[in-house]
Amino acid sequence: MHYDYLIVGAGLYGAVFAHDAQLRKKSVLVIDKRPNIAGNVYTEKVEGINVHKYGAHIFHTNNKEVWDYVNHFATFNRFTNSPVANYHGELYSLPFNMYTFNKMWGVVTPEEAAAKIEEQKREAGITDPKNLEEQAISLVGTDIYEKLIKGYTEKQWGRPCTELPSFIIKRLPVRLTFDNNYFNALYQGIPVGGYTKMVANMLDGIEVQLNQDYFTDREKWNAMADKVVYTGPIDAYFDYKLGTLEYRSVRFETEVLDKSNFQGNAAVNYTDRETPWTRIIEHKWFQFGKDDKGKDLPKTVISREYSSEWKLGDEPYYPVNDVKNCALYRKYHALAENEKNVIFGGRLGEYKYYDMDKVIASALDCADRILR
Ligand code: UDP
Repeated sequence: MHYDYLIVGAGLYGAVFAHDAQLRKKSVLVIDKRPNIAGNVYTEKVEGINVHKYGAHIFHTNNKEVWDYVNHFATFNRFTNSPVANYHGELYSLPFNMYTFNKMWGVVTPEEAAAKIEEQKREAGITDPKNLEEQAISLVGTDIYEKLIKGYTEKQWGRPCTELPSFIIKRLPVRLTFDNNYFNALYQGIPVGGYTKMVANMLDGIEVQLNQDYFTDREKWNAMADKVVYTGPIDAYFDYKLGTLEYRSVRFETEVLDKSNFQGNAAVNYTDRETPWTRIIEHKWFQFGKDDKGKDLPKTVISREYSSEWKLGDEPYYPVNDVKNCALYRKYHALAENEKNVIFGGRLGEYKYYDMDKVIASALDCADRILR
């Protein structure tokens, strides 16, 4: 059988592209080296709870087109992400907002909070922030940087904050209002029944072969289709011939606990440097409201997240988009441009710290351009 498209990777990018290609009457084969679809948004049921096996995913977007699109494949619940930061047992609200400022400094009004941030920024002498540390201090002052950002970020990225790009911290809102909603997004939620079901709906009617590693026989796979949509790491595609791009990997220690409520929240970030994990996820709270079924389930499932430098054989999660890696990526990108029959897409294919909605928007956009 010969296909129009071979799609390497059954994650969000691959599934969205495959769905669109099928709608436009193209023949499609999707392969994935894992035994399951859905890439890193994969969820699996444990004790009646959808466990986010490759880390917490909270769908959020301002893009109405993307929101309408995902709602074809799933019903979304009304989960709102509001993580708690635990700094040596002191608890703070995230993202940085009036609750955080009140707890940190005892300030009560937005003017007092703004003045405190301004004072700390002035004392640090920052006018034009050049890295994550300077950016963070200029946004929220030194106290919050020291207690809620520095330790977490250095555990998460394994690099000093002075060597990290400032865009990473700009992912988090800073608000002079009492608002613990982590995202500035019009639309937010978790698919009822889990992400795996949502991706399965995208792939409905499409041939998917699991446990198939593209690299073990790429000649065979390439010969099966006119074009390839490749969603794996771009450097792996080129056999790392220009060197390896750096990624952060994550290890999860997941436990089923014989209690109904472990931490009272979906995510608690451990922002000190000493605690070895970055955060603990209590999966049930993504799915059930705290006031209804969640508390009645007798058990709970938690995952401790440990961040590490990626090495060959590990799962890549986060591209390290610093100057050095971005320069190397550009070289791989130039090679990719010469691969006329291959489309590189997604977090790994484009070496980009994409959120889910951006991955979907990018896949839809690409499908629209190519399949039109
Ligand atoms: N961050 C932090 N303290 C926190 C949460 C996040 O310093 O309690 C910083 C950290 O550098 C992190 C970045 O903000 O990498 C982006 O956080 P986000 O929650 O968007 O990360 P993700 O959920 O993608 O891992």
